[in-house]
Amino acid sequence: MIVLLLSTAHADCALAVTTPIGREPGVEIAGGWLSRGSLLVLGEACPGGRTVTVLSESWHYRHPELPPLKSAVCVPSAITPPLDDPLISQAPPPGARTRLKPGTILTELTCTADGYTADGHPNLSAAELAWLRPISPSQEAAVGMVRQSYTHHFGPISLGEIPFTDWGYVGLPLPRRLTDAEIAAEADAEGLITDTQQEKTTTDLGPQVDGVPIYTHFTGADPRYTDLWARPETITALLDLAAAWSSTCPAKLTRACTLQIGDLAWYSDRRPDPLGHADHHQGTCMDIRLFRDDGSRYEAYYNQPDDRDGVTGGYSQPLTRAFLDLAARTARVLYFNDPVVTSAIPAVQARRGHDDHIHLCF
Ligand SMILES: [Zn+2]
Repeated sequence: MIVLLLSTAHADCALAVTTPIGREPGVEIAGGWLSRGSLLVLGEACPGGRTVTVLSESWHYRHPELPPLKSAVCVPSAITPPLDDPLISQAPPPGARTRLKPGTILTELTCTADGYTADGHPNLSAAELAWLRPISPSQEAAVGMVRQSYTHHFGPISLGEIPFTDWGYVGLPLPRRLTDAEIAAEADAEGLITDTQQEKTTTDLGPQVDGVPIYTHFTGADPRYTDLWARPETITALLDLAAAWSSTCPAKLTRACTLQIGDLAWYSDRRPDPLGHADHHQGTCMDIRLFRDDGSRYEAYYNQPDDRDGVTGGYSQPLTRAFLDLAARTARVLYFNDPVVTSAIPAVQARRGHDDHIHLCF
């Protein structure tokens, strides 16, 4: 096992990591949000703990409203144990940059008067270390398993592009996370006008072939990044299915084959998504949009017309049925309400609330 060596040459160099606390993906302190898994520089003693500053924010656990902690705050010692795992450079949030290549694993971080030195990278500023995250051997194994499957099907991806939780789940690999401006452009291109329509906009793209994503992610009513987590074996089963679908999809229009993935599991190990199905909490289930006949990246209902003015395309029963035929080979649970499909594919069951999406569990 790799041991992280920390120099004590500099007085402010002691590092710690925020541990899982409560049922939230972080804790509110002094009006700000301290995400789980963030890397902290320990300062002076304060009542009940130590003063800390955040060196690296675990950004997938950001709070939708509270800002990340910017200044030093007093934090209880119980939630800031010393760091004893290596650090991985995670891909930064959309629009942000990183000097350390995503996926770089650092085993030695030294503080100097001029900044930080890490595994042969000299003079790193605190800003350049902004996206580091401790990674345990079991987390590295989970991320490595997903990376191997992704690379097998779709080509290279770095370990830093596959996020992970503190309770054994990993994130759906989404190498193209759209910026706010790109999401606004996507909503515009799809003619999404109302808030309810706009929250259904695609926010992230998976692997692409000739500019067309094999799969995408949409966030829905939840805050971004809250709902893309699952057990590693669920993600690899999904990647297998996405690859098989991509090579067998019968549509002439490639865009119509894109798998549009919504909720997986919520980003807490203690409670399910307050807006979604409790089943997803087990990390084995996901929601998938119905396939459309027009290549639009918007939702469809099997029993309702599109809610946008002037759109004549919509639900494709043949494509959705072809996908479910394929999915039924490996999925344990499939819910969807089109009676033509449920009578043709016995594995697909009707359940209330599944007129506009497929619920799939491995
Ligand atoms: Zn579901």
